Amino acid sequence: SFDELKKCTNNFSDSNEIGSGGYGKVYRGMLSDGQVVAIKRAQQGSMQGGLEFKTEIELLSRVHHKNVVGLLGFCFEQGEQMLVYEFMPNGTLRESLSGRSGIHLDWKRRLRVTLGSARGLAYLHELANPPIIHRDVKSTNILLDEHLTAKVADFGLSKLVADSGKGHVSTQVKGTLGYLDPEYYMTQQLTEKSDVYSFGVVMLELITARQPIEKGKYIVREVRLMMDKNDEEHYGLRELMDRSIRNSGTLIGFGRFLELALQCVEESAADRPTMSELVKAIETILQNDG
Ligand code: ADP
Repeated sequence: SFDELKKCTNNFSDSNEIGSGGYGKVYRGMLSDGQVVAIKRAQQGSMQGGLEFKTEIELLSRVHHKNVVGLLGFCFEQGEQMLVYEFMPNGTLRESLSGRSGIHLDWKRRLRVTLGSARGLAYLHELANPPIIHRDVKSTNILLDEHLTAKVADFGLSKLVADSGKGHVSTQVKGTLGYLDPEYYMTQQLTEKSDVYSFGVVMLELITARQPIEKGKYIVREVRLMMDKNDEEHYGLRELMDRSIRNSGTLIGFGRFLELALQCVEESAADRPTMSELVKAIETILQNDG
């Protein structure tokens, strides 16, 4: 309820701050029933206001899926915009991959994280009513719960971000550099396949642990440069691979995983799989492991 949210706001202090992003700061709070939540407080002017905002948020709060971070409530009063989400204690996928959260994801867990987040996105694309294009798929928007189940966060929100947010591309095209579908960028025609492209970049991050742009180099290009058709064992790619998985013995379905990631980042959207095709393919990899 709104009163509960008000109480949360009284708890806001810097010590409860857990992060900050494109829209403002994120705090840890607690509802009166003891449930721990993440409260996203929009910075003044960072989001569009008005009826459009409210309609959109109401829509998002009706989305429920195991692999989507649930929006529990919102408040929208006196210029304040606050969104209350279920709390994800194991942080973002990016934090895990960069070793900052202390959670090591072995290869099998990376496959499960891929499957979970792909299922969340497939749900948004195909089962949510109306369908939702995430628009800002990236490793900082994939969060891990207490069981390391992956959930996608922040879906649909980038539509509501005012222009010129840091890290976001200006003009009509919205998304994050390094993850942005080149076809969408050129044509400004947004489809589900733009999320698929961004998700492919996340899959390459799962292989390399690198960020999509590192030292000015794009991961998609770097991986493509390393690929050699005659190199079925992918030795060329080994120097780009995350050391902790490279040295961990057999990586089930690695070749197939890489192939799928590269299909997702195809220049032409028509050559990319749909999210539910990707879900099936990842399920097959995991099933073959026995
Ligand atoms: P961005 O705009 O960069 O995606 P966000 O504003 O969504 O960033 O979130 C900033 C940070 O707050 C995240 O990197 C994450 O560490 C933390 N965070 C966001 N949502 C949650 C949540 N539901 N549970 C726990 N931590 C969260």
